[in-house]
Amino acid sequence: MSKELWVDAGKILAGDPKAVVKCPDCGEATLDVHDSKVDATHFERHMRCPKCGAYNGLLKRIEGE
Ligand SMILES: [Zn+2]
Repeated sequence: MSKELWVDAGKILAGDPKAVVKCPDCGEATLDVHDSKVDATHFERHMRCPKCGAYNGLLKRIEGE
C-alpha cells in the first residue's frame, strides 16, 4: 500500500469532500468517504475502498469553529 497516495487522496478530499478519488491500493474503485466527529475541534475522515477493503483515516481540525 502506498502511503503517499493516501496522503494525496486526503489532500484532494480536504479541498473537495465530494471529490471522486480512486483507491490508492487497487486503483479500480472510488473511495467511500465518511466523516465522524471526534470532539469539538476535530473530526475523523474515514476513507474506505468498497472493492479491496483498503482503509485509511485522517484526523482533521474543524475549520471555522
Ligand atoms: Zn481498492
